Amino acid sequence: MKIGPPLVVDLAHRAGIFSHLDSVPSLGLGSSVVSPLEMANAFGTFAIGVIHVPHYTIERVEDKHGRVLEEHVPQEREAISPQFAYLLSYLMEGVVQQGTARYAKRLNRPLAGKTGTTNDNKDLWFVGFTPDLVSAAWMGYDDFTSLGRPSDITGGSTVVPWWTEIMSQILKDKPKDDFLAPDRIVFRPIDKISGFLALPTCPKSNVILEAYHQGMAPTTYCPLDHSKPIGPQIAKLLAAQQEGPTPGAEKPVATPSSSANPSSTPEEILSSSSTDSIPNNQPAGEENSDGSTPFILE
Ligand SMILES: [Zn+2]
Repeated sequence: MKIGPPLVVDLAHRAGIFSHLDSVPSLGLGSSVVSPLEMANAFGTFAIGVIHVPHYTIERVEDKHGRVLEEHVPQEREAISPQFAYLLSYLMEGVVQQGTARYAKRLNRPLAGKTGTTNDNKDLWFVGFTPDLVSAAWMGYDDFTSLGRPSDITGGSTVVPWWTEIMSQILKDKPKDDFLAPDRIVFRPIDKISGFLALPTCPKSNVILEAYHQGMAPTTYCPLDHSKPIGPQIAKLLAAQQEGPTPGAEKPVATPSSSANPSSTPEEILSSSSTDSIPNNQPAGEENSDGSTPFILE
């Protein structure tokens, strides 16, 4: 809600959605209707990492002598910043690695994607991609009838398996290219339970490597005492987050968002011309040469 529906609608159109989208909070729940073709086209913008290329179906028409009668020349335009595209792809790699599209992990290659299940199970989705190929899968009725209410009918449980089977054939001879991080992307080990920078005392199973736009990474370390019950500590953190810093408090509880660089707005991150200012307390360590990120202690 901090970002707001108008910015989401604007980004969706820039990425390639051409249907009308209602600028309302329920947008994220599927209240506007889009087609699988649009979804594939929009995710292609994230996969390519910056450029939007409108879809087309006929590349060239030749006569029987091979003379070109008509030819489509792709129109490319810069839609979003490469950093933003990479962060989206990185998030969606997490959906495959540890989220609702885990089934697709068996393809054993760099893969990103997003599942979706709309109100009343009317639409089930999975749009998955490699750096070179996007495919969108949808299940539903074209008269908006519900597919039924069993809780196990979701995009993840119902669509991802057949998407995976089809893609296993399509991708079998394709190179296993990775999503490449552009400049101004940094990686930090994060305690996924607290959302703060991980400490060596955080359980290893909590620690994930997260990607950030330079200057937007959290700078505060995990405040949880992992030897004690976590539930009440998280509740306290959330309450503090909602109330904001208490005047006179010895040490206000910082959150990942509040500790990030306040001068970088969502609009600046989306724009490819953003300039960075790195907070003074930003951990200085970047990735090691082997791609791992060291724990950074101050
Ligand atoms: Zn922790």
